[in-house]
Amino acid sequence: MPKPSPIPDEVSKPFWDACNERRLIVQTCVQCDRMQYPPEKNCIACGSSAHLTWREVKGMGCIHGYCVMYDSRVKLLQENQPFNIAVIELEENPQIKFFSHLPGTPPDEVPVGAPVKVEFEATYNGQLIPEWRVL
Ligand SMILES: [Zn+2]
Repeated sequence: MPKPSPIPDEVSKPFWDACNERRLIVQTCVQCDRMQYPPEKNCIACGSSAHLTWREVKGMGCIHGYCVMYDSRVKLLQENQPFNIAVIELEENPQIKFFSHLPGTPPDEVPVGAPVKVEFEATYNGQLIPEWRVL
């Protein structure tokens, strides 16, 4: 099933390049000791880009909540309907949230609170993107 692909820009390219190496990295401001996702040009807390770096994380998290999509307007996603849209909290920092379709988990059978592990799936053009699987 072809998946839509992100379009990396100058700010997000390191993140997507790391995904292609099956590594999950999160932008971190070392001055504020703060992570942010999705990547931004500047730290949202101090406004500076001078202290932004990338930190590799383990790729573990838990399910914060979810909804189920029945009528997406995105054509490439319609074949997979209905599908889960789960909110994943990152283990290193629960304020960092990712979205996932939760491959392997049937729609609307999402175990909220359960631990998940990142995996990488290819989009239609071969870009790898993070998805999360219930352990
Ligand atoms: Zn900062």
